[in-house]
Amino acid sequence: MLNGTTAEIKPREALRINPAKTCQPIGAMYASLGINGCMPHSHGSQGCCAYHRSHLTRHFKEPVVATSSSFTEGASVFGGLANMTQALSNIFTIYNPKLVAVHTTCLSEVIGDDIPMMIKKATEEGIIPAGKRVIHANTPSFVGSHVTGFASMVAAMVKYLSESSGKTEAQLKDDGQLNLIPGYIDPADMRELKRIVKEMGVKTVMFPDTSGVLDLPQDGRYRMFPSGGATMEEIKSAGDSVGTIALGHFASHPAAIELDEKCKVPAALLELPYGLTNTDLFIHALRNHGGVDVPATIGEERGRLLDAMSDMHQYFHGKRVAIVGDPDHVIALTQFLVELDMKPVYVFTGSSGKHFEQRLTDILANHAPDAMVKQNVDLFELHQQIKNNPVDLIIGNTYSKYISRAENVPFVRFGFPILDRMGHRYFPCVGYMGALRLMELINDALLDHKDRDCAEENFELIQ
Ligand code: SF4
Repeated sequence: MLNGTTAEIKPREALRINPAKTCQPIGAMYASLGINGCMPHSHGSQGCCAYHRSHLTRHFKEPVVATSSSFTEGASVFGGLANMTQALSNIFTIYNPKLVAVHTTCLSEVIGDDIPMMIKKATEEGIIPAGKRVIHANTPSFVGSHVTGFASMVAAMVKYLSESSGKTEAQLKDDGQLNLIPGYIDPADMRELKRIVKEMGVKTVMFPDTSGVLDLPQDGRYRMFPSGGATMEEIKSAGDSVGTIALGHFASHPAAIELDEKCKVPAALLELPYGLTNTDLFIHALRNHGGVDVPATIGEERGRLLDAMSDMHQYFHGKRVAIVGDPDHVIALTQFLVELDMKPVYVFTGSSGKHFEQRLTDILANHAPDAMVKQNVDLFELHQQIKNNPVDLIIGNTYSKYISRAENVPFVRFGFPILDRMGHRYFPCVGYMGALRLMELINDALLDHKDRDCAEENFELIQ
C-alpha cells in the first residue's frame, strides 16, 4: 500500500502525512475512564465523540462509554452553554454517574467556551446532584496530542478533587500512603503495577486506574460503570499522601507537580518502568518512599530477566531499530533497547516537547550517538528515512505495519493504538515480567523473519 513512498526527502512545514499521534480528547477520555463511576463528556459535536469512542473501543475491544454536548450550527455560532446545561441534566437523570469529566474539542475551543463558568452555573442551578462532581480539562486538538489530553485530565483530577486535610507530617508518615500516577499505559500494565506495589507491601492510591474498567471478564452482564477505577475519595486523599511516584514525563509529571504545588506532596518524577533500569528506579522509589524492603520475589523476577537478557543477547546485539510512538513510551523503550545492546537508529514521536530530545540524547550518548531523534514528526518521514538507511526492526503502533510490509522489515506492535492484535489487552509490558514479554516479542519478530527469508543452509532447528 505504501510502495509508492519515495526516498527523496523534501522539507515540509505545513503538511503531516500519516501522523504519529492522534487528538487530545482521546487521551482525556481514556484518563476519565480510570475514575470509578465516571462518565466522560465531550463538549463539542457528535462526530468527534463518536470517533474518540470508536478509536478507544478498537484498541481495548471493550465498549467505551461517553456523552456529547451534540453541537449543531446554533451552538457553533452562539456557544455551547445551553447544550452543556441540557447535557449535564440528561446525564445525571438518565445515567446517574458519580462524576462527569468534561473535555473540549477543537470546535468548542475555537468558540472559546468557558467550561468552569458552565460548571459553576450548573451547580448553582441544582443540575449537579449533591455528592456528585463535574471536572474538566481543556483539550484543543490543534495543539498537543492524545498524550497532552491524557496529562491535562489527570492534572484536572488533582485540581478538582485532591485535598490536604491538614494532617501533621507524623500523621502522614503513620498512614504511609503513596500516590502512583501510572501514565498512558494499558489496563494490563496498570494491573501489573498494582501487583508489584502489593508485592512490595506499599499502600498506594493509583489514579487513573483503568484496570477493572476496560479489561472486564465476560459474565453475561453489561455494566455502564464497572467496579474498577480510582474512587473520588481515593483521589481526594492523594493530597494526604507522603509522596507521589509519577511515571512518564509527558503523561504523568504535570499532575504530580500540580499535587505538589496544591497539597505539598513531594514527587519522584520517573520514566515508565519498561526494561531493567527503569524498573529498578521504580522499585527503588517504592522502597524509599514506602519505607519497605524489596521482597525476594521481586529480586527473583529481576534475576529471571537478567538471565534471559544474557541468554538471548546474540540475537539482539547490534540490531538496527526504528522506534516510533508516544514520547514516554519511546523514551523508556529506547533505554531498554540500549540495555539489550540493540542499536536505535530512528527514534521518533508525533508529539512535541523538548524533554524528548534532551532525554534521548542522554540515553543514546554512549551507545548510539548517531541515532536520529525527532519530535513532532510523521510516519511518512520515518518511511523515507528507512528507505534511505534500512533497519532490522520497526517498533511502533499498528499504523507502522504499512512501512513494515512495504520494506519487508520485522515489526513489533507497541504503544497506542494497537488495532489488529490482542496481546496488549492481557499481557503487561511494565516491570521485570513485562520486560520479558517485550524481549519475547522482539526476539520472535526477528527470528520469524529470519526463518522465513533465510537461505536453506541457514534454516536452523535450534536457536
Ligand atoms: S475536530 Fe478536533 S477534536 Fe474533533 S476529531 Fe478532529 S481533531 Fe479531534
